[in-house]
Amino acid sequence: ETQLYVVPTPIGNLEDITLRALTILKSVDKILAEDTRKSGVLLKHFEISKPLQSYHVFNEHKTFNHIIEKLKGGEKMALISDAGTPAISDPGFLLVRGCIENNIKIECLPGPTAFVPALVKSGLPTDSFVFEGFLPHKKGRQTKLKALAEEERTMIFYESPHRLLKTLEQFTFFFGNDRKASISRELTKLHEETINDTLQNLNQYFKEQKIKGEIVIVVAGKK
Ligand code: SAM
Repeated sequence: ETQLYVVPTPIGNLEDITLRALTILKSVDKILAEDTRKSGVLLKHFEISKPLQSYHVFNEHKTFNHIIEKLKGGEKMALISDAGTPAISDPGFLLVRGCIENNIKIECLPGPTAFVPALVKSGLPTDSFVFEGFLPHKKGRQTKLKALAEEERTMIFYESPHRLLKTLEQFTFFFGNDRKASISRELTKLHEETINDTLQNLNQYFKEQKIKGEIVIVVAGKK
């Protein structure tokens, strides 16, 4: 019997929660949430009231044993993050691995995650791609970029608005001016925008404006 459900939540548009996600969230004993305040707002919207326990990068090691023991003892839990699918550039991996090692049955519901719509809207090959998440900020960044310059699959990155320009400049340098790319901003939200162009043109475009919102960068692989 399933003890831990990994439950994706909307990345902007509340209507993207699935019917099954609501059913599961209503049925579990406890919800593990990255930010109990943010998730409280979401759960309230769907009229779900459940005990919340915080589970985030800063306590996931510390709370791990306790959660595993509770799951073994028969407590049913759902893991959610602030947005999208837990364990995708979010906490969750440690707990999933721990459940597997302890023979605790888990399920992961399919649902919202930012990189899939960004990849599809990029118009770049979807048959083979690599998800890189956030690039390292300092240590290992150049090495990573050098290696990725040889990557032939479509590449997907998560980025914050204040780092976008720096990243685009480096992409232009390492991958070349003419490499095709796509930038998706504010997916599923009111100001959703996707721009498909060369790295050079994207660089120029974003230099000329104030960059806001959440961003996914998709870059064509090396030909
Ligand atoms: N777990 C999430 C998922 O499944 O996509 C990702 C969480 S990660 C901490 C947050 C990053 O995801 C943002 O910096 C951005 O790169 C991307 N992201 C999340 N929501 C987005 C949206 N609505 N539009 C574009 N990018 C988004």
